Amino acid sequence: MANASDKRGNLDFTVRFWGVRGSIPCPGEEFNRYGGNTSCLEVRCGDSLLVFDGGTGLRKLGLELMKDKPRNGGVDGYIFLTHTHIDHIAGIPFFAPLFCSDSNWRISAGHLLPERRLEEVLCQFMADPIFPVPPTIFNAGLEFLDFEVGQELGPFGGVSLKTAPLNHPNGATGYRIECCDSAVCYVTDTEHTVGTPDENILSLIDGADLLIYDCSYTDEEFHKYVGWGHSTWQEGVRLARAAGVPRMAIFHHDPSHDDDKMDAIARAASKEFDGAIVAREGETITIA
Ligand SMILES: [Zn+2]
Ligand SMILES: [Zn+2]
Repeated sequence: MANASDKRGNLDFTVRFWGVRGSIPCPGEEFNRYGGNTSCLEVRCGDSLLVFDGGTGLRKLGLELMKDKPRNGGVDGYIFLTHTHIDHIAGIPFFAPLFCSDSNWRISAGHLLPERRLEEVLCQFMADPIFPVPPTIFNAGLEFLDFEVGQELGPFGGVSLKTAPLNHPNGATGYRIECCDSAVCYVTDTEHTVGTPDENILSLIDGADLLIYDCSYTDEEFHKYVGWGHSTWQEGVRLARAAGVPRMAIFHHDPSHDDDKMDAIARAASKEFDGAIVAREGETITIA
């Protein structure tokens, strides 16, 4: 009879943070320890490569993927965008695998239909006089997929995705990534209503192993930013607790929060909730 590890085979389920910052990149020595690149996650489940968001962290992920690229083969994967605000797409024109003719990529978004399409939005972003070259510069096989938020996607290899709408200007999509009988939820960018947990998020994250949450602010700061579309680490803890999620990664750090401030947040959050960590650029979390 197969035991759990036989059932999982060699499917390692990991998440690596390539960009953890919100809104705008913030290079500088006061951000060295947590990182200054904007949102980008690499999720591996066995051979499947799923990238979430194409912020400035995507560039470094691309360079790393090119190092491992087989001489006679491509680098294939999927990119899922939470939405198309610039801090989540600025790395796309600099993602090296998109320039490889032997590679295949699909970029998906769930917040644009019915008025807009992802390809059209990227063409607007990569256009004169904002950016000198259009997406036709990419040599890789490239497909754009617009889906309706709420739809289930996949399976891709051993991975399936559930999605839910987030509360953010112009919309955003939260993802639940299921693989190896485990689940990671990526929930950014989203604003909470004080005192009323977001039911869409609660059902998306129910019983997951890890919640990566938009913790741009603290509860103490939140009143200054109502309507900006972001949340707090304390709300992340409340959601994780209510949904039975044992681990939460504080994510989408506000650029005004330097390393010392993030250390203070890390201390306060782990006092409040054992499983709270602050996401750091370059860090890998093993899920299964
Ligand atoms: Zn953002
Ligand atoms: Zn946003």
